[in-house]
Amino acid sequence: MMTPHVRADSPVATEVFPSPNHGERRGSPRPDMLILHYTGMPDARQALEWLCNPASEVSAHYFVFENGDVAQLVPEDRRAWHAGAGSWDGEADINSRSIGIEIANPGHDGGLPPFPEAQIARVIALARDIVDRWSIAPERVLAHSDVAPGRKQDPGERFPWARLHAAGVGHWVDPAPISDAPSLSRGDQGRPVDELQTMLASYGYGITRSGALDEATEAVVTAFQRHFRPARVDGRADASTLATLRNLLASRPSAAG
Ligand SMILES: [Zn+2]
Repeated sequence: MMTPHVRADSPVATEVFPSPNHGERRGSPRPDMLILHYTGMPDARQALEWLCNPASEVSAHYFVFENGDVAQLVPEDRRAWHAGAGSWDGEADINSRSIGIEIANPGHDGGLPPFPEAQIARVIALARDIVDRWSIAPERVLAHSDVAPGRKQDPGERFPWARLHAAGVGHWVDPAPISDAPSLSRGDQGRPVDELQTMLASYGYGITRSGALDEATEAVVTAFQRHFRPARVDGRADASTLATLRNLLASRPSAAG
């Protein structure tokens, strides 16, 4: 499948499998986010072909097979179509700001099987290479579900964010222990809900400070848990979720300056 005249941007990529689904980056000339996805399809080869099919109008810069093989689909300086509608830190055009990696995995609909070791090792190598070359901040290495809560679940709560962090990729704190303390949940209102929404917005999540724990807020809490408190993903802002969020805010590398 090697296309000899097209060079990969990353030395971690072992082949180039060009997708026509890309355009000019808008506004910002260089990517400053890395977005991780799962394919959510039973068969990796079918997923790859879909991302290269003009009819799909979707793509990503990189594709990582279960065995760890890495294909580049879209040049990094082009705007790949992986994130769709979303928002992070007030920015809605995630595709113009990011590099996207699709990780072959059947996803929640396929029972969310664990990511094979060989695959994760190559995801880490690829992500490290990308964040180093583009100087992407750790807290801007995100899940698709972080930038599109409620609409997307990938790469899911079985994705090993702690391991990526240990390898120098992404922002992470050990999740606070889960206890039986009361939670904020659907329908709650008032100052604690306002504080929750303020903290989530401050971290970057697209959330309206309504003061009420509405459906949209519950979706953001769920997305937060998928990434940062994966042992329990239930949309309830319990003490562990709130403490983990506070610790993340306090330890943001950019918060130091
Ligand atoms: Zn995705």
